[in-house]
Parts: sequence; C-alpha cells; structure tokens
Amino acid sequence: MLNLDLTEEQRLLEQSVRAWAAREVAPRIRELDRAHTFDRGLFPQMAQLGLLGVSVPEQYGGAGMDYICLGLASEELEYVDTSLRVIMSVHVGLNCLTLLAWGSDDQKQRYLVPQAQGSKVATFGLTEPSAGSDARGIQTVAVKKGDRYLLTGEKMWISLADVADNYLVFAWTDLDKKKQRDPSGMSAFIVERAFKGFSSATLKEKWGILAGNTGSFKMEEVEVPQENLVGREGEGFKIAMFALDQGRYTVAAGATGLIRACRDASVKYAKERKTFGEEIGSYQLVKEMIAQMESDYQASRLLWLRSGWLKNTGRRNTRETGLAKWYATVASERAASDAVQIHGANGYSDEYPVGRFFRNCKGAVIYEGTREIHKLMQADYLLGYRTDRPPRCELPAWEK
Ligand SMILES: Cc1cc2nc3c(=O)[nH]c(=O)nc-3n(C[C@H](O)[C@H](O)[C@H](O)COP(=O)(O)OP(=O)(O)OC[C@H]3O[C@@H](n4cnc5c(N)ncnc54)[C@H](O)[C@@H]3O)c2cc1C
Repeated sequence: MLNLDLTEEQRLLEQSVRAWAAREVAPRIRELDRAHTFDRGLFPQMAQLGLLGVSVPEQYGGAGMDYICLGLASEELEYVDTSLRVIMSVHVGLNCLTLLAWGSDDQKQRYLVPQAQGSKVATFGLTEPSAGSDARGIQTVAVKKGDRYLLTGEKMWISLADVADNYLVFAWTDLDKKKQRDPSGMSAFIVERAFKGFSSATLKEKWGILAGNTGSFKMEEVEVPQENLVGREGEGFKIAMFALDQGRYTVAAGATGLIRACRDASVKYAKERKTFGEEIGSYQLVKEMIAQMESDYQASRLLWLRSGWLKNTGRRNTRETGLAKWYATVASERAASDAVQIHGANGYSDEYPVGRFFRNCKGAVIYEGTREIHKLMQADYLLGYRTDRPPRCELPAWEK
C-alpha cells in the first residue's frame, strides 16, 4: 500500500538536519564559499547527528535508519549548500553502503565501523584524467605481488580527495582484459591515505561547490594488502555500478532540496521586490517560473521517495534511481537559472544565495552519470537494449 507519510523517526531526522544546517552552516556558508574553504569541523558535527552512518546498521557503527532517512538528510543538506550533500554522496552512498553490501566481515570492522561512526572519512575514486563516463577507459592498474597488490594510477575530480582517510578505488587487475576493455578485468580496493606512495591535491580551478573539497590523488606502486580487495577479483566494475545506485540516490534527493531552496528564495524575493509599483510576484511571467519550481520540486521528491522505498524493500532500483537523478538534477538547473532571473541583477551577485545555487547545481548534471548518459540509459531500458542482471550482492533490505 502506498503511504507517503513520514514515520516519526523520519520526521525527527528531517527536522533535526534542517535545524542544524540552518543554525550551524547557513549563516557562514557565503563566507566559506567566497573563501573556497572546506570546513573539516563539519565532520564531527555531522557524525554527532548520525549522518555519517545514517543508513548503516547499528551493529556496524551506524545510526540504523532507513534509506528514506538518507534521502531526507541529503535533501535538507543541499537546501543549505551542495557541499554538505556531497559528503553524504561519497562517504555514505558511494563508500559506506558499498562496503555494507560487498565488504568482508573484516573490512566492515576495520573500515565501515569507524566511517559510520564518523572517526574516518571516506570517498570513491573511479574517474581519471582520461576517463569519466567511459569507466572502462581508466588506466589505473593493480599488479599482484605475493599477498599484496601494487596500485599505480591517478584519479581526478574526486570529491573529498584531499581530506578523506579511506578511498574505494577501481583498477585493472587483468591487463589482457584491459586491452580488450572487458570490465570483468577490473577490481575494487580499499586504499588508505596513510599507505606509502599515496598523495592527494585540491583542485583550485573549480567554479562551483566552492565550500566543498574536490581534487585528485596519485598512487605510485601503493602496496595494498589482499585483504583490502573488495568482492572478488574481477568484480570491480559491478561494484562501481552498484555504488552509483546509492550515490545517485543522494544526488537526486539533494537536487530536490536545491530546487526547494530556489523556490523559497524566489517566493520571498518576488514579494519584496517591486517594479512599476507592483510586487514582481504579481506578474504572470514570474508566477510561471515559481509554479514550475513547485512542480519540479514535487515531482523530484516523489521520484527519489520511490527509489528509497525500493531500497527499503530490498528491490533492484538502478532504473528508477537513474531516472530520479536525471530528472531532479536537470530540473535543479532550470530552477537555479530561473531563481537568478527572478532576482534580476541581485541574482547576479553573491549577496543573494541564488547565484551560488546556480554555480552549484551544474556539477550534479555532470557527476554520477551525465545528463546524456542517463538519457541513454532510460531509452535503452525502453528499447530493450539494457536489462539489469542481479548483482551478486544487494543492499540489505531495511528492517526494523
Ligand atoms: C564536482 C565534481 C565532483 C566529482 N566527484 C567525483 C567523485 O567523488 N568520484 C569520481 O569517481 N568522480 C567524480 N566526479 C567525476 C564525474 O563523475 C565525471 O566528471 C563524469 O562521470 C563525467 O565524466 P567526464 O567529466 O570525463 O566527461 P566525459 O565522459 O568526457 O563527457 C563529456 C561530454 O560527452 C558526453 N558523452 C560522453 N559519452 C557519451 C555518449 N556515449 N553519448 C552521448 N554523450 C556522451 C557527456 O554527457 C558530456 O556531455 C566529479 C565531477 C565533478 C564535476
């Protein structure tokens, strides 16, 4: 039976994240963004709210909340700033939930528990200078040597690259398959910043999500113990795609929050600003933009809620999550552009938040599958060119 009422736990989580972000981050976000400063002090605060392990079971150090709570937290965080939601995407979505499904017991104890508790920060390294959408084009290799792998390569455009402790990294373990671009030659590894041969840097030229950290990392024959191989050798590509099902969910919910932020800022401004003796909100053309924001917000929210519900019930949701991510991010771009438009010249300065929303929204139309990749994916399902085969591991259904 369809029930869109939030449970008591979900409502409390939504309210507490909203209150925390409004109190602790909103007053400072413009300065952090202007100064291109990532505030590490956010991690302990987010950990205290249970956000860094929000949908991770309590037995692994998490808050034991359902996947809808992860979506609600993502929506509330991005309402204030995209950089906050990005933490949820890479740390919780792409990394922790992937370890929960694919990690060994030992990996869960050594990595998932401290990450979910918030004492270690984690991220996800797939993209490289020469390969983003085309993940089979990565060049990083992992060569087996005794009971270790030697990892060599460079990852680029990685969120939290320069601040994380642990990295879920993808590399070719079968060099013949690499030549043939056969993804069954790729494997996934947990790499620690502390491993010898690892170095990272912050990307300085970025023009959006300026309060977030984005960067690159290099591995020069980094020795990774074989216990840090996630899943089996050759399962890396599947694991990466699995991880994206979780990350995209948080991006969809986050973009929904950004649409709501654009809507609220636009409604407020439309009632304050007068031209020709009238509030600009009284003009049909301004109303049209605000109404579009509301319809985009409501539709985006329903799409991510459906995806969260499928996750809660333990069902495959690649197609639905992809649609939610594609729809919400494209709609957030429209909402941010119109919010700037409604603010006129004031929208073109950072005195008002909508300029930041406009810069921030674009990233999500690119990462975790570009707009074009998602369009292709949806069409391919309809045309029968794509079907989902069950992966070996699934996200555990949420039960209480
Ligand atoms: C702020 C930010 C944070 C990021 N964080 C991470 C992270 O934490 N970890 C990580 O691994 N990566 C991360 N990324 C990288 C991101 O996932 C890639 O940028 C993305 O996958 C696109 O790859 P690309 O930039 O190489 O573009 P390309 O793949 O080179 O695409 C360029 C253009 O060509 C189009 N295109 C490509 N192939 C096709 C096709 N078959 N059909 C039609 N059009 C196509 C694309 O849609 C795009 O418009 C991040 C990126 C950004 C901007």
